[in-house]
Amino acid sequence: MTTPPPMDAPAAAAGAAPQSFQGLGLDARLVQAAAGAGWSQPTAVQALVLPAALQGHDLVAQAPTGSGKTGAFVLPLLQRLLADPKLPDERPRSLRVLVLAPTRELAAQIHSQVAQLAAVPLPGLKTVLAVGGLSINPQLMALRGGAHWLVATPGRLLDLVSHNALRLDGLQMLVLDEADRLLDLGFADELGRLLRLLPAGRQSLLFSASMPAAVADLAAAWLQQPQWLKVPATAAVANDPAPVPAPGITQRAILVDTARRTGLLRQLIATQAWPSVLVFVATQYASAHVADKLLRAGVKAAALHGRLSSGRRQQVLADLQAGRLTVLVATDLAARGLHIEGLSAVVNHDLPRSALDYIHRIGRTGRAGAAGVALSFIAADAPGSELHFRLIEKRQQQRLPREQVAGFEPAAVLPAVAADPSGGLKGRRKSKKDKLREAAASGPAALAAAPPRGRR
Ligand code: AMP
Repeated sequence: MTTPPPMDAPAAAAGAAPQSFQGLGLDARLVQAAAGAGWSQPTAVQALVLPAALQGHDLVAQAPTGSGKTGAFVLPLLQRLLADPKLPDERPRSLRVLVLAPTRELAAQIHSQVAQLAAVPLPGLKTVLAVGGLSINPQLMALRGGAHWLVATPGRLLDLVSHNALRLDGLQMLVLDEADRLLDLGFADELGRLLRLLPAGRQSLLFSASMPAAVADLAAAWLQQPQWLKVPATAAVANDPAPVPAPGITQRAILVDTARRTGLLRQLIATQAWPSVLVFVATQYASAHVADKLLRAGVKAAALHGRLSSGRRQQVLADLQAGRLTVLVATDLAARGLHIEGLSAVVNHDLPRSALDYIHRIGRTGRAGAAGVALSFIAADAPGSELHFRLIEKRQQQRLPREQVAGFEPAAVLPAVAADPSGGLKGRRKSKKDKLREAAASGPAALAAAPPRGRR
């Protein structure tokens, strides 16, 4: 049976007025912890989720990446634990809270946010991170003597269960984070096996950026009369630190021939002086290949893709964060869940497959209200590229001017923007749009010569 997705189901909407954490019913100790993380007021998803979660309801929340959804579940679940007088000195017999996330990176970020928010109000809380791609032994050791809160990827959790490394019979709270991604990555079977092991009577929260039927079915099968919540894009813009797309992100589209994209990328890296850049490509091969080309040109770059070991992935992320690297060339693996502090720019060297992937990619910059730039290369010699980008734009109800960069003007110009010698479009009189295009096309010098952005 397919439950109607939240669009059709009774969906709550975030109020327009900014609210306070106190006003939402958050315990003063957690308000303090949020303030310690630099959060002075709740984001739209937090304002929506907190009251329902604090009342103990199951819920399904459709919220974009970067909207503060981790805080939206961590804060109320910590509050439930705070209310338990046994917790400070108990030896954790069974797990109390389980968070399942699709990728190691996302799981690690959730784990560190739990540790940060719990540190002062709940110093006795034992939290463990268990993800695949790393040796299981340290995770088995960490689980010795039990844990209160586990953040895990599904496959590794099943391994741990088969090692009898943890007890789930006392589980009180479950979070399925980025449920659409969990299913996309083929975790449906693992989820089914895990969910069957969990006790009834728990509170379950499901978060998802999109709400395909498979996610709605998952919620219908495993959650108890959940409330369906959706963060409307307008509320997100008004209230979220990094809504979709965040207002601090400047989006630009550049026409360039396919073979010259990496050269253009090099030039932009040299002229724009971005401290940190995430470049997206379509394949693992391209990730390694482009990173290699940049390295050979003296740019501090590395590849980031799913075939690298977990240790290597964490290393390159730490290197970018610490300024030892300037550029990571990533596949879409890195588009969701990753938080790179102060990332200056995202470059779509290869266009993303979908409008949703586009939003996930550009959402890596401009987070928590910071400014950022997102550049998309449109292959001028592949007409499909322009058409594909138009679809992405259409989904966002926006149209970016097509820019060209001096020295990288496309040799083959798309029929739709092909200029005739007299300056107009072939076979037509110059329209207002043609004139705008011309203005955009003469803007590249401005891009190439734009002053470097300040270091953050
Ligand atoms: P998330 O969607 O959970 O990955 O969060 C995205 C970013 O927003 C993270 O850097 C959080 O630290 C930040 N964040 C979460 N909640 C708030 C808040 N209430 N105010 C400001 N920033 C926040």
